[in-house]
Amino acid sequence: MTDSTHASDSTDATGSEARADCVLCGEPTEYPESIRGATYCPVCEWQEAQRQACSG
Ligand SMILES: [Zn+2]
Repeated sequence: MTDSTHASDSTDATGSEARADCVLCGEPTEYPESIRGATYCPVCEWQEAQRQACSG
């Protein structure tokens, strides 16, 4: 009888690389923390694009 004890390890499976936080909402972005300048999450990035698109 195989006694398989699967302990639920709460390790970060989403990569160990630190991600920069969104400057607007604080959500983790797709960009590494080493990136320079303001970083936006996909949502805020899209909203910023919409703003710039309707300038005028
Ligand atoms: Zn955001």
